[in-house]
Amino acid sequence: MSSSQNWPCAALARADLADRTTMRVGGRVEWLLEPATPDEFVAAFAACRERGVATRVLGGGANLLVDDGMLGGAVLTTSRMNRLFRAPLDGEVSGALTGEEADLARVAPRDRTTNPRFVAWAGATMPAIVRAASELGWTGLEGLAGVPGNLGGGVAMNAGGRWGDMWDVIERVRVVDPDGGVRDLLRADCTPRYRDGGLGASIVLGAVLAFRVEDSARVKQRVREYLLEKRRIQPVTEWSAGCIFKNPPKETSDGRSAGKLIEDAGCKGLARGDAIVSELHGNFIVNRGAASAADVFTLIEDVRDRVAQKTTVRLETEVKVWR
Ligand SMILES: Cc1cc2nc3c(=O)[nH]c(=O)nc-3n(C[C@H](O)[C@H](O)[C@H](O)COP(=O)(O)OP(=O)(O)OC[C@H]3O[C@@H](n4cnc5c(N)ncnc54)[C@H](O)[C@@H]3O)c2cc1C
Repeated sequence: MSSSQNWPCAALARADLADRTTMRVGGRVEWLLEPATPDEFVAAFAACRERGVATRVLGGGANLLVDDGMLGGAVLTTSRMNRLFRAPLDGEVSGALTGEEADLARVAPRDRTTNPRFVAWAGATMPAIVRAASELGWTGLEGLAGVPGNLGGGVAMNAGGRWGDMWDVIERVRVVDPDGGVRDLLRADCTPRYRDGGLGASIVLGAVLAFRVEDSARVKQRVREYLLEKRRIQPVTEWSAGCIFKNPPKETSDGRSAGKLIEDAGCKGLARGDAIVSELHGNFIVNRGAASAADVFTLIEDVRDRVAQKTTVRLETEVKVWR
């Protein structure tokens, strides 16, 4: 393929993917498409369908392992769709999700207590959303403090933890379906689960997030506490993809988390090439600098096998794998 192919958005041929993930492993993709608005995303997706090009969608790459070598097809990244707005009043939300920003300045309320809602496009970063909400003293998303990635990935994965999940603040989500159709889903229409937004193959273009107004200092204090706690127990400054495995159902694991099962199986510090099971948190694999995807995949299987030998639990991966 050559870069002359006429895509309806910015496009890169044979683009490197490793630097677009937090694990920093993996090879290239034939086409990287970089739409800047939800409308451009839909057009790029339609162009891929017309040309029979397989698609994948990339957010912040914080929950992703990309294989070594060349991936076929196109990756549509949301990184240029990094927009977050105060929500306009109800009748005008639809335009904001599409990109009619001009209207927003007119209708967006200025005081923090009126209409505590954001419109976020899929590429809005989670840290920016958490920061913006806490600045306004809006509560609901503090549990996502320290979780990297973009809104779209967070909604698709139902990112979260012990202090709350992404879907706690979702009011509606705009998606593009595999057939290219665009729909708005209300919260009541959706069934998010543990680390799964339940959207199937639909792609998130944006969402309306609804919060509750609280004392601003208290919200900021909770964000600080959660960030400190995350830094204490997770290798947040190292290259990783977050938790590799889902926590198993409590009844099968004596209530132990995946990290604890891995630690109990003696896997902390286990290494394959430059990929190593973190000494700080058993459910994190860290790239010490030059790990290949093959190193990480081998280590994942070794950890899974060791845990299965010690218990009856066969750990299921939380991280997404692109091969
Ligand atoms: C240090 C660290 C700490 C972490 N802590 C947590 C934590 O506490 N809790 C937690 O839940 N996660 C955590 N994670 C994992 C990660 O931050 C979340 O899963 C995050 O929501 C992934 O978002 P992303 O945009 O990076 O998605 P990506 O990694 O880019 O993609 C993940 C999956 O979502 C799909 N996807 C991406 N964008 C869209 C879209 N617009 N529409 C549909 N599907 C899409 C991708 O195709 C892929 O299947 C952590 C990761 C790291 C590196």
